[in-house]
This record gives sequence, C-alpha cells and structure tokens, in this order.
Amino acid sequence: METWISGTTGLLCLLGSPVGHSGSPAMYNFSFQKQKIDAAYLAFDVKKDQMPQALDAMRLFKMRGANITMPCKNVAATLMDELSPAAKIIGAVNVVVNDHGKLIGHITDGIGFVRNLKEQGVAIKDKRLVVLGAGGAATAIQVQAALDGARQVTIFNRQDEFYPRAEATAKKLAKAAPDVEVVIEHLEAADKLKAAIAAADILVNATTVGMKPNDGESLVNPDFLRQDLVVADTVYNPLKTKLIEDAEKIGAKVAPGKGMLLWQGAAGYKLWTGQDMPVKAYQAFEA
Ligand code: NAD
Repeated sequence: METWISGTTGLLCLLGSPVGHSGSPAMYNFSFQKQKIDAAYLAFDVKKDQMPQALDAMRLFKMRGANITMPCKNVAATLMDELSPAAKIIGAVNVVVNDHGKLIGHITDGIGFVRNLKEQGVAIKDKRLVVLGAGGAATAIQVQAALDGARQVTIFNRQDEFYPRAEATAKKLAKAAPDVEVVIEHLEAADKLKAAIAAADILVNATTVGMKPNDGESLVNPDFLRQDLVVADTVYNPLKTKLIEDAEKIGAKVAPGKGMLLWQGAAGYKLWTGQDMPVKAYQAFEA
C-alpha cells in the first residue's frame, strides 16, 4: 500500500448531508496522488446548523478548502469572508478556498457547464440560451452564462415554488449583466417553448426531469429540436437522458451532465491547487 499521507498532508473535505454517496473523495484523491500533491480529501456529514462550527474547524485545521453540498450551500454563502461574483448573485457556495484563514466562497456549477460546452467546441459568448429550470443548477448556469457574455437567456419554469427564483435571477442579472436580455416564460406554454427553441443556439435541461427513476421523460417535444441546436443536460444519472438521446438521433451536438459535473469539480481543484485536474486520466480510470 502506498504511504501518501504524512505529517504534512493538507486536508480538504466535502461538507453537507448526506455525503456517503459522493464521488468527490475518489476523484480528488486520485488527482492528488496522480499529481503528487500532498493533500487528502474526506467527506463529513454536516447539517446546516453545524456549518459555523465546520467552517471554524477549517480555519483551525488550516484546511486548504472544501466543497459544500446540499443542504448547506446557501447557509455557507452567509458565513464566508468573501464571495466570488457568481456566488454573490446566486447566494450559494459549493467551493470554499481557505486563504490563510480568510474563507472565500465560489460556485463552480456554472463554470463547469460553460467549460463542458467549450470541450464540445461551443463558446457561450453572444449565444442565445433556453434554460429549463430555476433551481440550483439552472440558476448557476443562467448567471454564469450571463457573466460570460451570452446574448440572451430565456428561462422556462413550471408554476411551482421555483418560479419566483427565476424572477429574482432576472432582477439580479439586470444589475450585474445589463447587456444580457433575460426572459422568463411558463413551461406550460408549449408554443412559446417551441418559438424560443427555434430562435436559440443552446437548449439546456436544468430540471430534475429525465433523472432516475424518471429516466425516459423529457420536457421537450423532439420535433422542437434541430441539427444545429446545441443540447445540454445537467442530469448525469442516467448518463444520457431522453432529451440527449433525442438530440443525438437528429445529429445535434450534445453536452450531457456528467461533463458538467467533472468540470465543476475541476474548477474547484484549480482554485485550491492552482493546477489543472487530470480530468482525462480520471475519466479513463473511472471507465
Ligand atoms: P432543484 O431542486 O434546485 O430544482 C429543480 C428544478 O426542476 C426546478 O426548476 C423545478 O421547477 C424543476 N422541476 C422538477 N420537476 C419538474 C417537472 N415534473 N416538470 C417540470 N419541471 C420540474 O434541483 P437542482 O439541484 O437544480 O438539480 C437539477 C438537476 O441537475 C438534477 O438532476 C441534479 O442532479 C443535476 N445537477 C447536475 C450538476 C452537474 O454538475 N451536472 C450540478 C447540479 C445539479
């Protein structure tokens, strides 16, 4: 057995609840070992009301950083010493960097989404996006796309408790990215969805529809898709949703959620270590 943990090994961690299912410890520890970085990553089950203690422990143990997962992402944002522009707008944090006791909160979901598209040769600048959803993943994508210079972001959400979040995002983006046109529509209006997709460059499903155990479901009529539309999904379980399969059938470029997941993790790694995560090596190891 390799003895890669020593008296100088730095600690990073995942904080949230539950965390037992997380793939992050495997991914980050693989990457640290591969790049001979003297660090180890563990997952700690922490509830919302324990976050102040957990963050104090980060300072006490001089931990380099952490990931924050549900249900602690929003409360963590209120406890940071500083927030990235996207984390400030969204009010959520999934990566913490400990800069000599100063905790800086970032949100990398949107960064991972944009990077995943880049891997497919698709730039976000000046693009028109239709984003289905107004929850955590959707908001991160909408905000990052706007900050990265998308021309238009049209948000479709059903009339549920998430709908007001779309309105809040539009309000915040009007200040933070005034050149970006943000439109909000009801998902129930099929004619509006059809027209918006027809005018869009990129379509994103950022709802939970299509996720196991409801795989096989899609919010988009396959007739609304076309070959020169880029189709992305945030759902990574299953690896290919019905929407992604429908898009592939007509030869459209696709960006499934697994890539976004990997690249949002790589963005955190870069923030902690300054190095590019060995994504390709990890993908080969995982396969
Ligand atoms: P959330 O609970 O914050 O938001 C759920 C969204 O889905 C809301 O907009 C809601 O209105 C919509 N929705 C739910 N059921 C619906 C239905 N039947 N019809 C229409 N809309 C419906 O969820 P989230 O955290 O944003 O996660 C959304 C998906 O994105 C999940 O599958 C999650 O695993 C995935 N995700 C992926 C990544 C990644 O890196 N790939 C990151 C975060 C989340």
